[in-house]
Amino acid sequence: MPAWYQDLPEDRAIMKTLLPLFLSLVAIGSEATAQEAECARERAAMVVTIRGHARSYASVLGPRGMSERVMQAMGQTRRHLFISERSCSIAYADTPLSIGRGQTISQPFIVAFMTELAEVAPDHVVLEIGTGSGYQAAILAHLARKVCTIEIVPQLAEAAANTFRNLAYDNVSVRAGDGYAGWPECGPFDAIVVTAALGHAPPPLIEQLKVGGRLVMPMGSAYATQQLTVIEKIGPDKTTTREVGLVRFVPFTRSRE
Ligand code: SAH
Repeated sequence: MPAWYQDLPEDRAIMKTLLPLFLSLVAIGSEATAQEAECARERAAMVVTIRGHARSYASVLGPRGMSERVMQAMGQTRRHLFISERSCSIAYADTPLSIGRGQTISQPFIVAFMTELAEVAPDHVVLEIGTGSGYQAAILAHLARKVCTIEIVPQLAEAAANTFRNLAYDNVSVRAGDGYAGWPECGPFDAIVVTAALGHAPPPLIEQLKVGGRLVMPMGSAYATQQLTVIEKIGPDKTTTREVGLVRFVPFTRSRE
């Protein structure tokens, strides 16, 4: 402690007590700022990587690749706050990461790609099945008016709901349960994104999709590679299906009720 501090008269006792606390808060604050700056750099690098990766999907995305809106959402959403990994060089690497309970947060490119394929507009209502960490829902929340997301593992649903509350995402609703039946009270939906693998599109989801809306999901058996599939509802009872590339997702599980 400096001499001037030792020499403070006793009637400055409160200052003597509070000053070390204040100084340590300043130190913690500047450390946090430095970490946020590093995370912002890693996030910007992640966006560059995603843009590069999108070039190999020009046949699906067209020559312009990812849209600016989706890239902005990827550049603004703080992925490191949705996972327990504190190192931003890992949090923003273009790889999937474990989020516990045998589940994973998808690779950032795949999150961006699925979001792009969903063609989300500012007035849209979007459903996600498989909340996991909440990261994909957060990206959708940057782009849509309202996002409803369902997670079958209650602890993950609760953790994601807390993250949305802490980060003040006020247009996301989380429900714990089996997403197979969708969420009719939240719909009808302009877009639905399913982030777990299943061999078929659940009929209730197609039903809750608006005409003109899109369902994006990994279609195929679990623990193998699946076809990322876009189903567009072109009439009340009519859909078109397009396969856009191979992906690997965790299984879509069913509740036993
Ligand atoms: N979108 C997530 C990652 C998804 S991992 C993110 O951004 O972090 C797939 C998630 O789907 C897992 O958390 C898994 O528990 C969940 N899931 C699997 N089957 C489900 C079902 N029937 N209904 C709802 N969620 C399901």
